[in-house]
Amino acid sequence: MSAINLLDLLPAELEELAVSLGAPAYRGRQIAGWIYRKGVTDLARMSDLPRHFREALAERAAVLVPVVERRTPSQDGSEKFVFRFPDGARVQSVLMPDGDRLTLCVSTQVGCGFGCAFCFTGTMGLERNLGAGEIVGQLVGVAPALGAGRRVTHVVYMGMGEPLANYRATVKSLRLLTDPLGAALSPRRITVSTVGLVGGIERLAEENLRVNLAISLHATSNEIRDRIMPVNRGFAIEELLAACRRFPLPFRQRMTFEYVLLDGVNDRPEDARRLLRLLKGIRAKVNLIPFNDWEGSGFGRPPLPRILAFQSLLLQHGITATVRWSKGEDIGAACGQLREAVPA
Ligand code: SAH
Ligand code: SF4
Repeated sequence: MSAINLLDLLPAELEELAVSLGAPAYRGRQIAGWIYRKGVTDLARMSDLPRHFREALAERAAVLVPVVERRTPSQDGSEKFVFRFPDGARVQSVLMPDGDRLTLCVSTQVGCGFGCAFCFTGTMGLERNLGAGEIVGQLVGVAPALGAGRRVTHVVYMGMGEPLANYRATVKSLRLLTDPLGAALSPRRITVSTVGLVGGIERLAEENLRVNLAISLHATSNEIRDRIMPVNRGFAIEELLAACRRFPLPFRQRMTFEYVLLDGVNDRPEDARRLLRLLKGIRAKVNLIPFNDWEGSGFGRPPLPRILAFQSLLLQHGITATVRWSKGEDIGAACGQLREAVPA
């Protein structure tokens, strides 16, 4: 019998598990406290649980934290973690400190099946989905490396994989991260980035999760988007933006549109002007990501003046636009540079 991974269970489900083992429900809440507040994942060290309960629990379940196989610190303070799961699958997570903030970028799939032309992860294809506990396991797995008193304050779903193509596990992991008895992160500090799956965006709208949504738009005409993002051949930009317009944004929250700037492909003033037109009527902000190169990509990063001109045009028309100079470029941990070798 395969063990239950306690990281897959919400605090309420941990309570049910405790009851099913003949213990009072609050034992489940204690387990959640150990894992998420005290960072203790070894059942034997959960010292306020009665021994017979711990033993009964250990027969059925364990906290399966992925193994840190490699840690690569970058010049800029960010750090790449390579995690290995029991079946040998590997994913990457990136830790990015910024003042008081400590952001963790998590993966949702091993590889990705969407094949965006500019994305290194896309060249891997999809190996498998992660479970909710494997997504949350990346947060639990970096904790020992943080040092006393340091905690991850923000989580972005921008690592390997497409979160909305692994919908159930992604949503469950969001509930685990935001549960007051779980990781207890404010949903406003969590951002889910999607390639733009209309059905997934519509389902997410019904969940009342109140997390931030980021849309990987990257092009302003269907002709260009079809070319660099095969997903666009399934539903056009207009359809995607219609779903964004219908998305119930919490008070004062804005939707982020990510835009990878590719030299000579989508970086002209007319692209910026088209982008302005497309975003009319959406509470939007734009995150411009200068392309992060990888060998054999066939794309380039626009020269700095063109990046700044694109940004100015948006700003002049009242759209908040920031340029994200990716972290971890020197260690292959920047946006779209993540790829792990398939184990032999
Ligand atoms: N699959 C999701 C989330 C992971 S990718 C998505 O596509 O949104 C996180 C962001 O990095 C996306 O906006 C993606 O388009 C962008 N990205 C991918 N490859 C990149 C590259 N080489 N340079 C810069 N950004 C890249
Ligand atoms: Fe997948 Fe996102 Fe990369 Fe596209 S950009 S291939 S959806 S991870």
